[in-house]
Amino acid sequence: MATFPLKIGTPDGLLFEDEVVRVVCRSITGDLAILARHINFCTALGMGEAHVVFEDGTRRDAACIGGMLSMLDGTCHLLATTWEWKEDIDEDRANAAKKRAEDVLAKSGLSDREYKRAEAKLHRALVRLSVKK
Ligand code: ATP
Repeated sequence: MATFPLKIGTPDGLLFEDEVVRVVCRSITGDLAILARHINFCTALGMGEAHVVFEDGTRRDAACIGGMLSMLDGTCHLLATTWEWKEDIDEDRANAAKKRAEDVLAKSGLSDREYKRAEAKLHRALVRLSVKK
C-alpha cells in the first residue's frame, strides 16, 4: 500500500518520523484516518486512542491527548499536546489518576472549573487505560 511521511511532535520535540500507510486518531469531530494522497487538511485533535500502521502491516498504538493534525502536499504533521506510545503508558499511574478524578467528581459543590478539570483528567486516564488493554 502507498505510504506517506508522518511526523509526530510534542512540546518536547520531534517524537516520531517515518513512512506510514495510515494514521488514525480522534479529532474534535470524531475518529479520523489519514491515508496517502489525502487532500490538504487541518483539524484540531481531541483525546482518544490513536495508531499508526506501517507498510509491513505492523501497528503501533498510542494515546493522543489533544493537538493539531495537518496533511499538506502529502506530508502529515501531528502536533500533539501529549502523545504516549502504548508501551510508555504507566497503567498503575493511569488507574491512580482515574481514582483521584472519580473521587473529585463524587464531591458535591464543585465549581465549574473544578468539575471540568476532573472530567478532563478522568477522560485522559480512561484513554490511557483503553490503549493499554
Ligand atoms: P497524572 O495525575 O498521573 O499526572 P494527568 O492526566 O493529569 O495524570 P497529564 O497532565 O495528562 O497527566 O500528563 C503530564 C505528563 O505525564 C505528560 O508528559 C504525560 O505524557 C505523562 N503521563 C501522565 N500520565 C501518564 C501515564 N499513565 N503513563 C505515562 N505517562 C503519563
